[in-house]
Amino acid sequence: MAETVFAPATAPGRAGIAVIRLSGPASWEAVRRLTGQPLPPPRRAALRLLRDAAGGALDEALVLLFAPGSGFTGEEAAELHLHGAPAAVAGVLAALAAMPGLRPAEPGEFTRRAFAAGRLDLTQVEGLADLIAAETAAQRRRALAGLRGGLSRAAAGWRATLVSARALVEAEIDFAEEGVAQDRDAIRALVAPLRAELAREIGGAAAAERIREGFEVALAGRPNAGKSSLLNAIAGREVALATEHAGTTRDVIELRLDLGGLPVTLLDMAGLRDSDDPVERLGVARARERAEAADLRVILLAPGEDLAGLGLAPGPEDILVAAKADLPGRAEGLPVSARTGEGIAALLARIRDILSARAAPAGLVAGARQRAALSRALAALERAEALLGGAAAAPELVAEELRAAGQALEALLGRVDAEEILGEIFARFCIGK
Ligand code: GDP
Repeated sequence: MAETVFAPATAPGRAGIAVIRLSGPASWEAVRRLTGQPLPPPRRAALRLLRDAAGGALDEALVLLFAPGSGFTGEEAAELHLHGAPAAVAGVLAALAAMPGLRPAEPGEFTRRAFAAGRLDLTQVEGLADLIAAETAAQRRRALAGLRGGLSRAAAGWRATLVSARALVEAEIDFAEEGVAQDRDAIRALVAPLRAELAREIGGAAAAERIREGFEVALAGRPNAGKSSLLNAIAGREVALATEHAGTTRDVIELRLDLGGLPVTLLDMAGLRDSDDPVERLGVARARERAEAADLRVILLAPGEDLAGLGLAPGPEDILVAAKADLPGRAEGLPVSARTGEGIAALLARIRDILSARAAPAGLVAGARQRAALSRALAALERAEALLGGAAAAPELVAEELRAAGQALEALLGRVDAEEILGEIFARFCIGK
């Protein structure tokens, strides 16, 4: 019989409420023991005093039961909405741990059970992980679409097309002797648009990944061009994203921003200049590499400076900024002054517009796993198409490629080959998810 697990579902610390979640066949019995009262009907919140085994009051809480097949995990389950007091949470957790048949949940275990019960497929699990990690509106929109089955529905449509194509191929195999007319055009008419659609999805995956992981924008320029002053001026007026991987390394200062819903990291690096000092040269080389690897470069030129000698060839969309525009003799580019604030809004708007355009092709697919599964499906379809184009391809071979494409879509949803990747995916979840 499945074990019953429990864990806090809300972050630790003081808060208005804290939710403890239980899932498994002993969930309701555990609630009955805690309350010592008849259970409320499923999905109906009831206020109850929770007590430990000795009868000591733990907290007053809302209790909520879920019948098998109706809650997040698909199992018999319950939620206890406590006051968000660390002592209340600790007391209830201890009382649950003392009950037979109950144990604390592993990280991601609730979601894992939901997956095992078929409540979520793997793309939805990934959407949930992304949603919990979402910091900006664009990230939230994408993740929610995934959680709500956007990719699952698309994949179901693709599989239906594959099934139709296979049926035509199988008919050709089955009735070959009876001289059934070869319906290659009909098969091709199914395969070609599907191939194009998968290719488009894969093409959009890079954009989707930028939304998921964030864009990098490098501030580049000579030492004293005004990069740190500009970064500080932006930090002072924009909402910086709180993030656990915000980091100030010795060489690079990062500022994470929400620009029009897109996550953007501004990088301020060592100034670019020629130097005889080997340590500095290393820093400059690294800064140049990082600037080149960034999605976009904002190149600051102080009055009197130009691009020559920077060692940086600006891309077509890179932004030239005439820094310290409050001083005379401004350089070429968008005038910006960290001192007066002139041009900062225009600069941020320009960055936002460029990155929004780059994010636009994002489709439903993101992340290496999804992209790999879709690429396998695409490759199989391309082989099928090539066979169909040949004069006398054996229909068995076409059928095999269509089957392989279908298999890749099954893997995308986690219906096959899921075991080895599950650990990796659920490692992204914390306890209580
Ligand atoms: P970085 O080496 O590129 O990071 O340059 P800093 O931001 O440290 O600035 C170098 C010098 O230029 C400092 O003395 C700043 O006060 C000055 N500075 C930076 N931005 C401006 C500006 O917009 N206007 C004026 N007048 N001075 C600036």
